[in-house]
Amino acid sequence: MYKYNNIELEKCEVLKDLTKTGKERPWREKKLKTIELAESYFRLGDKKYYRIRDCGSFLEYKKHIETGEKKLNRANFCKVRLCPMCSWRRSLKIYGQASQVMDKALEEKSYRFLFLTLTCKNVYGEDLSNQINNLFYAFNKMSKRKIFKQAIKGWFRALEVTHNLDKTSDNYDTYHPHFHMILMVNESYFTDPKYYITHEDWVKLWKSCMGVDYDPMVNIKAFKTGTKFETQKSISEVAKYSVKDDDIIIKNEDGQIDEELTDDAVFILDKALAHRRLVAFGGKLREIQQELKLDDMENGDLIHTNNEDELRDDLEYVIERYKWGVGYNQYVKLDL
Ligand SMILES: [Zn+2]
Repeated sequence: MYKYNNIELEKCEVLKDLTKTGKERPWREKKLKTIELAESYFRLGDKKYYRIRDCGSFLEYKKHIETGEKKLNRANFCKVRLCPMCSWRRSLKIYGQASQVMDKALEEKSYRFLFLTLTCKNVYGEDLSNQINNLFYAFNKMSKRKIFKQAIKGWFRALEVTHNLDKTSDNYDTYHPHFHMILMVNESYFTDPKYYITHEDWVKLWKSCMGVDYDPMVNIKAFKTGTKFETQKSISEVAKYSVKDDDIIIKNEDGQIDEELTDDAVFILDKALAHRRLVAFGGKLREIQQELKLDDMENGDLIHTNNEDELRDDLEYVIERYKWGVGYNQYVKLDL
């Protein structure tokens, strides 16, 4: 029997939080992962352990009496960069902001959007931080080049790091930092040879800014903006996690955590990503972000993620509170 303040948890109502399309929000899955991550920080002797362990242990909702719709109202998030719970909330927030900013741009003018992926060679853990420095430096350089400045009206940039865990690969246990970008261009971009940048030009440009002797892999493709659904899908490809949970919390074939590999990855990624701006807007998109007075995508509020309509305040609501049942591994409703 699991108890909290003398309440028998098994007798409590379990949290059910569904999206508008009826999909269950992954609170429980993310909470379980925060515990696994916290244990790694504990083994590393890092005090962040305490914050991560308690992340999202308390959720408060406003629930509409008439519709039964729920909206998160308060919660305790740790805001540690690698935290699976906070990364999920952050990705919702980034997605929400990117959508808002792009929608606003399109209200003014029929811009077009492109996807750009800029990569470099894989590196071992000890070189990751340096390689990320190189990427940021090269990007800065590129954004000041004439060819970029005259064609690209605005951009959104997100750093992603993947961790190669394929034991048969030559790159096993190396890291792959890269940028995902959305570029905003004028409609005339595709037909005007003065502005159009070919794939070959992108490779040359990125290679020269990176100052490397190999051709870095660069991917460029036009954005599908035919329907709202396609636009949303395209944005979600870019506005995702900086590092996937499975690249940090690493499991063996039998589903057990590989503590050595996990602790290594946590140590390396924690250091390499500290004090960096992993997502940013530039050019016209940055102006719009500022006009809309949107808060900081990374350090801002993780409760209101802007990706769904706010509950209307003129409707009656009740407050519901949920607590994570330690050991019971469920969110249970507390009677007020
Ligand atoms: Zn957290």
